[in-house]
Amino acid sequence: MQRGSQSPPSGPLTADERAILFYYCLNHTVARCLSCSRSYYLHELVADLLSGRTHLCPRCRRDLTENVRSHVYGCGILPDYVREKAKALREVARPST
Ligand SMILES: [Zn+2]
Ligand SMILES: [Zn+2]
Repeated sequence: MQRGSQSPPSGPLTADERAILFYYCLNHTVARCLSCSRSYYLHELVADLLSGRTHLCPRCRRDLTENVRSHVYGCGILPDYVREKAKALREVARPST
């Protein structure tokens, strides 16, 4: 599915995204693995230190980073101002007008 000209964010979660997860999202699931048909809590996800990837599915080792990230921006319990701030931080690379 394509959403405008916005390129999908990639790479590991930023410090801000992680902070949001730790602050707001510890008591509900943050990523769903399609292969396993299971949703996982943040603390259930595993990191692969060799590849440097974090937030992997504990069962099939699929990289769920993007799922976690989309949760950050779609989390229902996040206060609006926090979500707006997170979005704004993602756009700091773009020159402001
Ligand atoms: Zn959440
Ligand atoms: Zn899985």
